Amino acid sequence: MPTTEENFMRAPVSQPKRTLYTDAMEIFHRAADLMGLDKRIRLELEQPDYEHIFYVTIKLQDRLVPLPAEAAKQFADLPVTHLRDGGLELLPDGKIILARRALLGADVFIRNGHLRLPNGNVYQLVPGEDERFKAYRVQHNQARGPYKGGIRYHREVSLDLFKALAAEMTWKTAIVEVPFGGAKGGIQIDPRQYGADEIEAITLRFMYKLKNLIGPNLDIPAPDVGTNPQIMALMLRQYTDGERERHMLRGVVTGKDVRIGGSEGRNKATGQGVVYCIEDFFAERGESLRGKTYALQGFGNVGSSTAEILHGLGARLLAVNDADGTIFNGDGIDVPSLIAYVYDNPKNLKRSVLGFPGAQPISKRDFWEVPADMVIPAALGGEITAEVAERLKTKLVAEGANGPTTPEADRVLARRGIELIPDIICNAGGVTVSYYEWVQNKRMEKWTEAEVNKKLEYAMKRNWRIIRDIARGSPRKTDMHDSRPYCLGRPVDTRCAAMILALKRIEAHYQLEGFSQ
Ligand code: NAD
Repeated sequence: MPTTEENFMRAPVSQPKRTLYTDAMEIFHRAADLMGLDKRIRLELEQPDYEHIFYVTIKLQDRLVPLPAEAAKQFADLPVTHLRDGGLELLPDGKIILARRALLGADVFIRNGHLRLPNGNVYQLVPGEDERFKAYRVQHNQARGPYKGGIRYHREVSLDLFKALAAEMTWKTAIVEVPFGGAKGGIQIDPRQYGADEIEAITLRFMYKLKNLIGPNLDIPAPDVGTNPQIMALMLRQYTDGERERHMLRGVVTGKDVRIGGSEGRNKATGQGVVYCIEDFFAERGESLRGKTYALQGFGNVGSSTAEILHGLGARLLAVNDADGTIFNGDGIDVPSLIAYVYDNPKNLKRSVLGFPGAQPISKRDFWEVPADMVIPAALGGEITAEVAERLKTKLVAEGANGPTTPEADRVLARRGIELIPDIICNAGGVTVSYYEWVQNKRMEKWTEAEVNKKLEYAMKRNWRIIRDIARGSPRKTDMHDSRPYCLGRPVDTRCAAMILALKRIEAHYQLEGFSQ
């Protein structure tokens, strides 16, 4: 009969459940172990300061839902209804938002809640209902300054995901030396299924509820997946509504349009930062970007601006994958034409690269096997799995997206000798210029794009070089950087090196200021 002690010894060790957050924090723990991070600082950083979940409700507008051809036959003799111009908004899924004003003064022929539009199709009129959305704001850490991080509107979000993304912001702001902490949030919604007025209503309601949690010196949102400068403008409007000193609060969100206090260069800043890192990566090898080939995942803010800047430097885009498909052209895709196809084409409601005439469609599986000098993920997290990493035919992965590579894939990349520019430095250009925007708002100043980019280039290249030295375990001091305080005296992998730089800078705040902030 085993004793109680033996029973205890034999009991299986319970492993914490593996989640996106635990995966994202694996590198934190590895770096913390290697540098011997103080236990209490580790506990402070291991979990977010605050995790907010709340709900946003709006009343949806009426919709016209297209009937399948078979069902439409029973309305064969239904006359056409000519609705007023400007009252209809076509959505990517074929449904139409119907503003009540469209019905004013029109001869409306409705039968059993159905009507026929001039395009010949029969639609069911579905009255707008009330809908509730789940919203989040995770504030991870503020040891170095106000919480800072983007707002994501996407169907697949969760508290776990926002915790991971908020922590990434804490590391990122430390790496580029901007005096902010880390946060992230957003709404569980597929924004493409809603009209512009509905998105406005959701955003205003979201900010109404968020207002008590944020502020220009407390927590500063910015755009992320599914949000943009227009949404930032709505958030600004709602936050400052009725305030006597509204102009003093302009820094409550960044990523605004330049005409309302946004910074020159902010829209392209993340892509610009990605390119500065890549440029420095090849410059060290005595190579330029001219003629370099790449495959790009995501053609939104980060992907399209990265491609535009790389195009100007003579690099060749071979393949693009986005949410709706993949395109390929071995001779190179003409980036300006692709940008026009995606962004200036009113018929391309999905803003997808699919159907671009200057390239052929390929499968997503083939996308990852395109032979190229670099692969740039600039879409969602977790896309480069171990299986994908085995198939890559590239020398470099430059992470424009947040968390695109799983921990298992990291190990595959290392084994295969594929180099990595990790997300927390590679895509930190966005938050860096967000900081410049915030400073300009505070000082009521306006900087030129050249000034912004000069500062950004310095911040990106200087900190990338420190990370490179930490990875190689070779401390150096040059005119631009000094990696001596950060190197461990032995090589570490690049992702770990980036985390060590972040943790050493955060550690300094706790060591010098204590734990009361
Ligand atoms: P965006 O919404 O402008 O574009 C997202 C792109 O990803 C679109 O082209 C979309 O089609 C594509 N996409 C979505 N789901 C996909 C899927 N399953 N497979 C392939 N492609 C898919 O978003 P963004 O602002 O360009 O952000 C892209 C990434 O960069 C995100 O990981 C984001 O967190 C990160 N990031 C953004 C910023 C910024 O300033 N916007 C800053 C730092 C990091």
